[in-house]
Amino acid sequence: MDMDKIVALCKRRGFIFQASEIYGGLNGFWDYGPLGAELKKNVKDAWWQDMVRNPPPGPDGQEIAMVGLDSAIIQNPKVWEASGHAAGFQDPMVDCKKCRRRFRADKVFFGSLRMEVGGPEVAAIAVEADDATAAQKLLDEEYQRLVKKKKLRGEILHGVRAATDFHPAEKHHPCPAEGCDGELTEPRTFNLMFKTYVGALEDASNQAWLRPETAQGIFTNFKNVLDSSRVRPPFGIAQVGKAFRNEINPRNYTFRSREFEQMEIEFFCHPSESKKWYEYWRDVRIRWYSELGIRSDRLRPREQGEKELAFYSVGTTDIEYLFPFSDEPQELEGVAHRGEYDLTQHSKHSGKDLSYFDDELWAKADKSAYGGDKKKEQEAKNKPPYRYVPHVIEPSAGADRFTLAVLCEAYAEDTVGGEARTVMRFHPRLAPIKAAILPLVNKEGMPEIAHKLYRELKPQWNVYYDDGGAIGRRYRRQDEAGTPFCFTIDGQTLQDNTVTVRHRDDCKQERLPIKEVPAMLANALKPPQR
Ligand code: ATP
Repeated sequence: MDMDKIVALCKRRGFIFQASEIYGGLNGFWDYGPLGAELKKNVKDAWWQDMVRNPPPGPDGQEIAMVGLDSAIIQNPKVWEASGHAAGFQDPMVDCKKCRRRFRADKVFFGSLRMEVGGPEVAAIAVEADDATAAQKLLDEEYQRLVKKKKLRGEILHGVRAATDFHPAEKHHPCPAEGCDGELTEPRTFNLMFKTYVGALEDASNQAWLRPETAQGIFTNFKNVLDSSRVRPPFGIAQVGKAFRNEINPRNYTFRSREFEQMEIEFFCHPSESKKWYEYWRDVRIRWYSELGIRSDRLRPREQGEKELAFYSVGTTDIEYLFPFSDEPQELEGVAHRGEYDLTQHSKHSGKDLSYFDDELWAKADKSAYGGDKKKEQEAKNKPPYRYVPHVIEPSAGADRFTLAVLCEAYAEDTVGGEARTVMRFHPRLAPIKAAILPLVNKEGMPEIAHKLYRELKPQWNVYYDDGGAIGRRYRRQDEAGTPFCFTIDGQTLQDNTVTVRHRDDCKQERLPIKEVPAMLANALKPPQR
């Protein structure tokens, strides 16, 4: 699998384009072309169908309660203070004044050296590293190289220092980029959230942020949903929508973009059941990717180690995919046990009580234990198990990352009848075009029959009519678009009302009565039965 070939096909066939390409593009932003828009819509629709409308049965075989939400991209800025984004999204950064590269200040380290043993300390060299120990090793190697090249007889001074520890009086803060002799700026906080202003005045009081995740809109509506619908824990609220992060280093095609779409569920449950629900969602989400054609040897659930976990998290599993651009699997989705952190934070910051009162349980409770003491009764009512802050399990997936994984997974080259072809082996539910309707020749009544079939299928599915060129070339075009079925109207159709069904993956052909075509397509495209 070659990433360059996938990228080239995506551009040539209209899956993905660079955003504002005619103006030179904009780093970290992507547009989906006609085929890509259908593909990504199918990804989101499959998620909504399989997770919101018809999720798999719960751990005890019960039906899952799940409702949808569509919250605003711009929210009251206090939301981001409560969630921790306003603080946590600020990493100090340093810029190179010459090459303009930007680095996280805590990942750049300086070391000083002497050109001669005992001589004056003359210069600083810089390296990029994860921590001081790794930096020291790199600095040693770098110094050895310098010594060798310039025949110096100096020494490296131990005690490296990160660029966060900036001394303005020092002359040198060199850029760590290879071949660049520029100087770095002082560390500056660089907020990953995109800032905007609401209203006419661009002052601090009107400042707002584009959401960096869809999840917070769910938490802030927790009470609205409870009060307006009949759901009660355990239940989930799901949302699909855009998120924006001013990523320092967008890379790997659409994998790390600055504008992307998330598909998130916040599942609210009783604390005593949260482990069970965490395991349920982890397994459901892994299975979903497999059901849609991601091979298990490229899919890896990775349970985060204790040190990696966010401070509030009891457990997190990253569901990762082995993309062709990396030797290590990369995150498609995080399934996190978030405890009561989110609802507690929003309760504190908003002053609104976001605990849940289980009135059914209270109605069943034996109140004789309180001996008619109303105060005691009230106290008991306001404590677990009757009133509690639900725990949250969050499966948070990226629609663009999964779309990219689907493109990588589908891409294949093979030979058919001695001829090389490129074929996108999409799962039929995700394929942008479900079927192509092809009259073998443009005469003898074939176009009329083909058109009739095309019009019959079009109200339900994205189907494509193609009468241009040799039939082999038309099949090849559909293979590249990933169309799972071609229905060809040929000479025999005129005699017995059957069509040729040509299958994308093995190129096998069979005959099918034309009136059975809709049922055959419906069967191939149906979501899983629960
Ligand atoms: P990463 O470690 O890769 O930055 P993250 O752990 O910050 O990701 P989350 O905040 O958990 O990501 O977001 C949930 C999901 O949103 C990710 O699993 C991913 O699919 C998607 N996502 C996050 N950041 C980006 C991005 N910059 N571009 C595309 N998708 C993203």
